[in-house]
Amino acid sequence: MTSRNDQNQEEDTQPQRVPRRTPMACQFCRGRKLKCDGRPICANCERRSIACVYVPV
Ligand SMILES: [Zn+2]
Ligand SMILES: [Zn+2]
Repeated sequence: MTSRNDQNQEEDTQPQRVPRRTPMACQFCRGRKLKCDGRPICANCERRSIACVYVPV
């Protein structure tokens, strides 16, 4: 037996981690049902060189 178990404990203790960023899609991705990566300028908008806009609900 190795004593490696100590480091793996932290992840199991928290049942649900609430991510800080809301998994929200930007306007463009939402309209096109694309998968938005949630970055300030998401990949889809960056690729098209359009403005990435997030609209709060
Ligand atoms: Zn997007
Ligand atoms: Zn976008």
